[in-house]
Amino acid sequence: MHFPTRAIHIGQEPDELTGSVTVPLYQTSTYAQEEIGKHKGYEYARTQNPTRDRWEECLANLEGGVAAHAFGSGSAAVDAVMRLLSAGDHVVMAEDMYGGTFRQAERVHRRFGLSFTYVDMRNPDNVRAALTPQTRMVYTETPTNPMMTITDLRAVAAIAAEAKAIMVVDNTFATPFFQRPLELGADIVLHSATKYLGGHSDLVHGIVATRHQHLAEQIGFLQNAVGAVPGPLECWLCLRSAKTLHVRMERHASNAQQIAEWLETQPSVKAIYYPGLPSHPQHALAASQMSGFGGMISIELGSLAKAVDVTKRLKLFCLAESLGGVESLVCHPVSMTHGSVPPEQRARLGITDGLIRLSVGIEDVRDLIADLEQALQA
Ligand SMILES: *Cc1c(COP(=O)(O)O)cnc(C)c1O
Repeated sequence: MHFPTRAIHIGQEPDELTGSVTVPLYQTSTYAQEEIGKHKGYEYARTQNPTRDRWEECLANLEGGVAAHAFGSGSAAVDAVMRLLSAGDHVVMAEDMYGGTFRQAERVHRRFGLSFTYVDMRNPDNVRAALTPQTRMVYTETPTNPMMTITDLRAVAAIAAEAKAIMVVDNTFATPFFQRPLELGADIVLHSATKYLGGHSDLVHGIVATRHQHLAEQIGFLQNAVGAVPGPLECWLCLRSAKTLHVRMERHASNAQQIAEWLETQPSVKAIYYPGLPSHPQHALAASQMSGFGGMISIELGSLAKAVDVTKRLKLFCLAESLGGVESLVCHPVSMTHGSVPPEQRARLGITDGLIRLSVGIEDVRDLIADLEQALQA
């Protein structure tokens, strides 16, 4: 079956008891047991919830994994993946990454004995050079946030496999509709489902999928033992959203492509970062591992004053953190999402005071371009 059909049907068979076409929301903390030692496979809702099971089954299938495990947020999903490691282990990470992942690595996991080396993942040789005998994990995001750089997933996965390190990919920006890292050699893929998977800016959620049974068992153990589980409503909403993921992503990407091409003609825009543009230095690589380029665009306006001015004037693009919802958003990474990244590192990556990031929604693209036009020309 093709992706859209699986997104609508996997884990979503009509309910056996009532015929309900949507998966029921099991808002319960515990389950009645028939007698001591005899139950229906459900004992306690941190450990098992039928709504959560069905969403995990659906997402595992969409990513091409053997299993998935859901968490209370994308950050909790990152944390669960880090807990596969032990004190003394080393991780090679992308230097251009979601700011909160960097903060978690440096201010939480480092205290528990993990060490991290941040490299420019645009060149796979940098990953090889950073490996140590203690390296147990290689962790990347692609496209990255907010600079839209691309990691060559096949090349880096091969290097990680050679080093017997677990290759982890944060697939939040691309979603499995456009990119399936497990099929390119990654071991684990994770998401902030708060973004495109949820897709409507109405929930906070995370999920981890893997193609290895042994890793699935360890992540499942951590999900229950550490307990950063989502509520069933979030799982239900994610299942609801999975059904439209393909149509939403197609529209996000076609709107973003048209906007990026239009932005290239605007003199007030000093630089545009969008992997769908042939002028993006890694466009060919992106095209070789993604079937579409997503809805995220970053633009350089040259100064903080211009960024403040443009974000104030925009009417449809709402100034807010987060991304991936049906409505367009704009954010200023330096003061919003990437505040926890040290200034020297930000400067090196190109995350300047004049950079703004657009999360292109699925409104009519003519209205979005008109909004950008009036804001940029002022
Ligand atoms: C938002 C985000 C996260 C963190 O997820 P939360 O759901 O906010 O905890 C991780 N990675 C990426 C790429 C993100 O955009």
